[in-house]
Amino acid sequence: MENIKLSELFGKNVFDDKVMRERLPKSTYKQLHKTIDEGLELDPSIADVVANAMKDWAIEHGATHFTHWFQPMNGRTAEKHDSFLSPTSDGRVIMEFSGKELIKGEADGSSFPSGGLRQTFEARGYTVWDCTSPAFLKEDISGVALCIPTVFYSHTGEALDKKAPLLRSMQVIEQASLRVLRALGDHKSNKVISTVGAEQEYFLVDKRQYQQRRDLIFTGRTLFGAMPPKGQEMEDHYFGSIKEKIGKFMREIDIELWKLGVPSKTKHNEVAPAQHELAPIFATSNVASDQNQLVMETLQKVANRHDLACLLHEKPFKGVNGSGKHDNWSLVTDTGKVLFSPGKQPKDNLEFLVFLSAIIESVDKHADLLRLSAATAGNDHRLGGNEAPPAIISIFLGESLTEMLYHVARGEDGDSFTKEVMEMGVATLPKLKKEVADRNRTSPFAFTGNKFEFRMFPSSGCVSEANVIINTIVADTLNKFAEELEKSEDIQRTIKHIVRHTLRDHGRILFNGNGYSEEWVEEATRRNLPNFTSTVDVLPALISEKSIDLFGRNKVFTEVELHSRYEIMVEEYYKTLNIEARTMLNMAKTQIMPAVLNYMTQVAQNVSIMTSLGQFNIDPQSELLGELNRLFNGLKKSIDALEEAHTSTIQICDGLEKAKAFREKVLPEMEALREVADALETIVDEKIWPIPTYSELLFRV
Ligand code: ADP
Ligand code: MG
Repeated sequence: MENIKLSELFGKNVFDDKVMRERLPKSTYKQLHKTIDEGLELDPSIADVVANAMKDWAIEHGATHFTHWFQPMNGRTAEKHDSFLSPTSDGRVIMEFSGKELIKGEADGSSFPSGGLRQTFEARGYTVWDCTSPAFLKEDISGVALCIPTVFYSHTGEALDKKAPLLRSMQVIEQASLRVLRALGDHKSNKVISTVGAEQEYFLVDKRQYQQRRDLIFTGRTLFGAMPPKGQEMEDHYFGSIKEKIGKFMREIDIELWKLGVPSKTKHNEVAPAQHELAPIFATSNVASDQNQLVMETLQKVANRHDLACLLHEKPFKGVNGSGKHDNWSLVTDTGKVLFSPGKQPKDNLEFLVFLSAIIESVDKHADLLRLSAATAGNDHRLGGNEAPPAIISIFLGESLTEMLYHVARGEDGDSFTKEVMEMGVATLPKLKKEVADRNRTSPFAFTGNKFEFRMFPSSGCVSEANVIINTIVADTLNKFAEELEKSEDIQRTIKHIVRHTLRDHGRILFNGNGYSEEWVEEATRRNLPNFTSTVDVLPALISEKSIDLFGRNKVFTEVELHSRYEIMVEEYYKTLNIEARTMLNMAKTQIMPAVLNYMTQVAQNVSIMTSLGQFNIDPQSELLGELNRLFNGLKKSIDALEEAHTSTIQICDGLEKAKAFREKVLPEMEALREVADALETIVDEKIWPIPTYSELLFRV
């Protein structure tokens, strides 16, 4: 295998700081950097110079096209390629790319979801360069294109993408954090960056088998499929040694991502058979969001090259774990401080106490919004399923940190939080200090050393969605605290007061126990914590008065923007279920029913032949035929019931009502149909069964 020089490879296809320094005139470089670092307005006069340097660099690397690359509200990325070609008056062509083309593009995006923000007759939308996320080259057998990260907004100035609000929220949390830091006496930090590290889970299956399953092709998940004799109960896949075929795929993923400047760091097998995970090193929220989009795209592209299919759905298989995307989030200053780092004496670490209190209050107050940020039809199959966090939002801090906070609130000295030494009972092993908190795999919002890990997020989601919410809710509380601190004459007392009031009013959100247990659901009800078990229940939270006030006050979403996003989420939900129901009906009627009939004929023929021979006991095959016939009747009944529920549901006009009906009427019929079909799968001749089974999908690769 060819040796790779990681240091040469990393960022090879990125127009990053190093390239800019080499290629831009010093003054332009400085100006651009000022824009990026200090969040200043971009001076259009430097755009031509930057565009030219970008174009030369891209062409030297084989690029023929450029594209504004953005995150429309469908949660994926969008691109429309333009070549650099420009005709001259004497009939030749030259390569051109102007500052204007770099800064702004016009995308007739009437076919993107806009949630009513745009009609087709006023389709104008603009993409605008986001210079805080570096341009890069997409390179594959179809060519090389220069991709310029942009935000997408409408003619009337509303955000039409997931990026613009994220950038707004980053500004908001930066300003709020700086206010708090200043009030606490930090005059050195000039920037506070919200950082994100998104761990990506995914499944890999054989491409040919994937292609034989319409459910995987159309919906991303299996709508039928009986459990194979073995699932994940042996716990032998998690961190297990990586098979060669998968290892080769992972190596290519790393190489492709490193070239794109995505710092892919860890890779391993996950809990379910055929499930894996990749995590990069964290970055600023917006860069991390762009990079995660590249991760998802690259996983699928490279899988295809290896005759595999990569499934990003939250629950591709019933009966084994689904996939999430852990959103690790923190705040870091330009002076290198991680604001959630407890330090040696967290109880005296005033900044830590204030920021931690802000998390507690924000998450408790806006548990609905946080839950909403993870709400999709796909994720509904995962949350609360004893594998992912429950649908109830709570925070895990660990016993000692929780205790410390209560000590502070009561004004007690408490212990000094020294780390205990772990004793393993083997003399030759090094003595290690215990971590501040143990891991808690069942908490949706867990403190993990110096960051929080939001573990509810769906594997196929766009992480901008979670972080726009986290940034905004925390910023809102930080601003409230900043006001108190700015007025304070005794900072220590004020902080104690903040901690005490936070615990009194929002302490109910802290939970260090097992989030998968039934007792927790009961306890959470006693604590009055919301438990939104499905997407349709939580969708209205986005347009509640509380939400409109919060996002309006912080200038992250206008009311109109919130409504448009709400519309899109509602639509996305029922459209997803509509496709699923239709795919199921299609598969059941044109694949499963004929296969079962086929097998029944075989058995019936056997019964008839054996009967005609006269001397055999045909009870067993008659019994089988009876069972097949019984299930076949059930299958037909279930198909009819699903069809009926589906037909009446699609006629509902109101979006939310339609979504609810899909959840309450269609989904149960889908489950019922699946149950009969899966029972049939376990008794029908496997040579006749028309679709690859779980055994093949999960254990073949
Ligand atoms: P796991 O939770 O599986 O143990 P890791 O401890 O490796 O995973 O970390 C998960 C992710 O958290 C990584 O992407 C890592 O870069 C990220 N991370 C670490 N520090 C921060 C931080 N300050 N802000 C945001 N993400 C961070
Ligand atoms: Mg994790």
